[in-house]
Amino acid sequence: MLIDKFNRKIDYLRVSVTQRCNFRCQYCMPEKPFEWTPKEDLLSYEQMFKFIKVAIDKGIKKIRITGGEPLVRDDLYKLIKMISSYKPDIDLALTTNGYLLKQQIEKLKNAGLKRINISIDSLEKETFWYLTKKNVLENVLEGIDLAIRSGLIVKLNSVIIKNINENEIIKLYNFAKKRDIQIRFIEYMENENAYSNLKTLCSKDIIKRIKQNSPIEEIDKKENSAAKLFKDKDNYTFGIIEPYDDSFCKTCNRIRLSANGDLIPCLYYEDSLNIKKSLYNNQKIEKVLNEVIEKRPEKNKWSHPTKIDTSSKQISSRAFYFTGG
Ligand code: SAM
Ligand code: SF4
Repeated sequence: MLIDKFNRKIDYLRVSVTQRCNFRCQYCMPEKPFEWTPKEDLLSYEQMFKFIKVAIDKGIKKIRITGGEPLVRDDLYKLIKMISSYKPDIDLALTTNGYLLKQQIEKLKNAGLKRINISIDSLEKETFWYLTKKNVLENVLEGIDLAIRSGLIVKLNSVIIKNINENEIIKLYNFAKKRDIQIRFIEYMENENAYSNLKTLCSKDIIKRIKQNSPIEEIDKKENSAAKLFKDKDNYTFGIIEPYDDSFCKTCNRIRLSANGDLIPCLYYEDSLNIKKSLYNNQKIEKVLNEVIEKRPEKNKWSHPTKIDTSSKQISSRAFYFTGG
């Protein structure tokens, strides 16, 4: 069992398989030119799997594959198959922008994928393009419906940005409700890689908009869930993710592996250890795993943009496309 020094059990591993992406979401990818880690420095699926096996043996029960955009890495289903063959009852999930789902959904499902979170921030063509810089809303919508039809458990993620898609909160809510899938509205996390003009719409404002549309009440969230959960008068459940809120840290059960092998103890904490040199020996892998868990801070390091004075403002320099979110 993996337990950190604040007595939190670590049983959730997020694995980023690539930094690359076929979108350029303004809140995630830099405005200025940037360089990818060269392909030869990325972990192969075999290397990832070596680490994952040890992590599962030590108590990891849930794995989420993420990126960058995980579906741009060749043959992702092969990694899914490796993991599900090793541990068939593992909770195996994927986060994707949905664009390439049509081509891959069947293979992913057959390989053992159980759940999928699809990111969609706008249902309007213009705004979708403006936010993602890719004119493919129709493909993403088709991907969502194919994922639902495939029988996977589907959730939607929407990052809400002031003055850009805040007017679509109810539209997105109704879209998800109609399909009976959970949507989670995510507060935008400022970071050095995002476009500098973007502003967070706070969770209380997101909730206010939804309340104006329908009465809602907060319900108990699942232990370790990142989202606060609410239900409306029709018992439809949706979530709000508040990355700045450190009450989430009290039950945080996750660590992250980046595509180049950095094992990251906390999303909002600039520290990590690279696993590459340990991969020839399971005991060495265990040692790195334990060292990273030992490094987990009690709370995240970032302050809410509305609660800090701008002179000492701390925003994350770590890219979401690197950590996988
Ligand atoms: N490409 C996939 C996708 O977009 O779903 C997976 C990787 S993406 C980094 C994972 C999640 O992080 C997505 O739901 C995305 O909306 C979210 N995300 C990215 N940048 C963010 C930011 N600055 N603040 C809050 N959420 C962010
Ligand atoms: Fe790509 Fe996902 Fe980042 Fe958008 S949020 S740029 S889809 S990695």
